[in-house]
Order: sequence, then structure tokens, then C-alpha cells
Amino acid sequence: MLSEFEIIRRFFTHPTDPASGVVLGVGDDAALVKPTAGMELAISTDMLVADRHFFADTDPYKLGHKSLAVNLSDMAAMGAKPRWITLALALPEPLVEIKGKWLEAFASGLFGLARVHQIELIGGDIVRGPLTICIQIIGEVPKGKALRRSDAKLGDDIWVSGQLGNAALALAHERQHIFLEPEEVAECSSALHMPMAQVKLGQSLIGLARSAIDISDGLLADLGHILEYSKVAAVIKIKNINCSMAMKKRLPESRAMRCLLAGGDDYELCFTAPKGRRTRIDALSRELGILLTRIGKISEGDGLVVLDMAGKIITSLGVRGYDHFCP
Ligand code: ADP
Ligand code: MG
Repeated sequence: MLSEFEIIRRFFTHPTDPASGVVLGVGDDAALVKPTAGMELAISTDMLVADRHFFADTDPYKLGHKSLAVNLSDMAAMGAKPRWITLALALPEPLVEIKGKWLEAFASGLFGLARVHQIELIGGDIVRGPLTICIQIIGEVPKGKALRRSDAKLGDDIWVSGQLGNAALALAHERQHIFLEPEEVAECSSALHMPMAQVKLGQSLIGLARSAIDISDGLLADLGHILEYSKVAAVIKIKNINCSMAMKKRLPESRAMRCLLAGGDDYELCFTAPKGRRTRIDALSRELGILLTRIGKISEGDGLVVLDMAGKIITSLGVRGYDHFCP
């Protein structure tokens, strides 16, 4: 059986890049990092528990990737550049006993995505226990410029990146609640297993967007947080929300609507911006090759009005946030 020390040395210790700002990495009682002048630190933690947030037999490579991606999405939502992570793991004995195969795949998924964003793993903890993955991420954002939930203003456009509902659709297929053709699985399953998080978009929205949030619990719940914190209301149109062909083909309208509004696990950004910035946002969309769609407007009062495909107000969807049985 591998000891804690061997696990850290074999799987989680890498030479650090001199440009990474790491003064002292894995090995001491604490890591030391040097923040960039003029920047504030953005710090966030996400915990994933087996059988609650993922199936215990999930491919460990994909799990390593996704554990980091969900944290990156929080940085994206603040407009922060992710820089450093710590990793706390609770591992059941069998996973350690299989000669580190699980750990090797997990680390390779995690570091694969970390390299894409030049993020350094600077510390962590390992304990024996039911499989749990807890990543803390530290990013940097220009002083006073972070994108908050609380800054949406009356008249702002509401924008969403990418397509919504694909992760929920892929999950429904895996649970055999619906059937997808192989090419449709290909279209949707990366949203569920290998999400990328809109890191570059988030940073580019500084100075353009007024408020932002990542859509991890579904559009209704997450846009709801912006409305609550900004003390405003909104009207959105379902027909403006972008979704996959698979969604259009495989789900009747009412179920597709629930999936788009409350599917969860989308890791796209929802942001608001003044009308005068439409041209610049459309240009950014082309420059980054990321779909950015205007789905509605910030209005007076409180609450969220959703208009269906025919433009009629939806009075009850029966869901708010993340719903495992969405479709
Ligand atoms: P301590 O007893 O001081 O808490 P540990 O033995 O838990 O130290 O860890 C030793 C070093 O290894 C520390 O620098 C810690 O941050 C690092 N470390 C522990 N677990 C991990 C991990 N999963 N990934 C990266 N570094 C880790
Ligand atoms: Mg420790």
C-alpha cells in the first residue's frame, strides 16, 4: 500500500514554473506565493463527494479534469485569472491499493487541465475516508474590477455563453431516461464529463460586463442569485437560449425547457451588461469563437419572468435549481 508521503511524491509533486509566482511549493508546512502587484486575490473552494456529485466508478481521468474545471468556472465568473490550487483528498483504501492506477489517471486529468491554464498545485492534504475531492483555487483579478453578482442594473442585457442543458441531457442518457444516438452523445457528453469552464471569457468581460455568475446549478437558480444580490428583476425569453440539436430533437418542449432552465452542471457564464456594449460583446464572441447570446433584460421590481417559445409567461415550471431528474 502506498503511504501518504509516496502518494504526494509520485503523483502530486512537479517542478514549478518560475513564472508561476510560486516561492515555495509542495513539501513544507505551507506554500508561499507572490501575488502580482495591482491585483486582488480571488479565492474559492469546491468539494465533490462520491455518490453525491459523481458516481464512485467514474473514470478517474475525467474526474480529475472535472474537479478542477468546476473551480475554474468560479474564477471565470469573477473575471479572475486562476493561478494556484490546493488539493485535499479523502481516499478509500481500495483506491490506494490498486497500485496507484486510479491516482495516476486522476492526477493526469487534473494536471492536463492545469497545464492549459498554467496553474500550479501548491499543496493539499490526504486522508483515508469515503472518496472526496476538495480543491481550493486562488486567482488574481485587477484591483476593484472583479465581476460580482451584485452589480446588475436596470436596463442591462442578460447574456449567456455557449449552449445550456447538454450536461443534463447526457446524464439522462446515461441513466437511460432517454436515448441519444452516438453522434448526439458526442455532442453532449463532454459538457457532463470534460467541461472546460469559460476562463478566458471571464477575464475578457472585465470592463464589459457589470455582473456575472457561472451556471452550475441551472440558469433559473444562478440568474436568481444575480437578481437577489443586485435587487432587480428580469425578463428572459426561452427561444433566445441556445441549445444543442440533440435537445431539440430528443425532448418535447416542456422537458427541454426544464433542462435549459434548471439542468445544472453547465459551467457557462451568465452576465449582464449595458445595452451600449452590444457591439463590443458581439466582437468578443467572434474573437474568442464563443457563442454569446442575449436572452433577456434586467427590469424593475423583483423576481424572474420567463417567456416560453410562443412569448407567453410561464407561470410554473415546478423546478428552481439543479434537478437530477430534469428531463
Ligand atoms: P502537514 O503534516 O504539515 O499537514 P502533510 O504531510 O499533510 O503535511 O503534507 C506534506 C506536504 O505535502 C505539504 O506541503 C502539503 O501541502 C503537501 N500535500 C499533501 N497532500 C497533497 C496533495 N494531495 N497534493 C499536493 N500536495 C499535497
Ligand atoms: Mg496535512
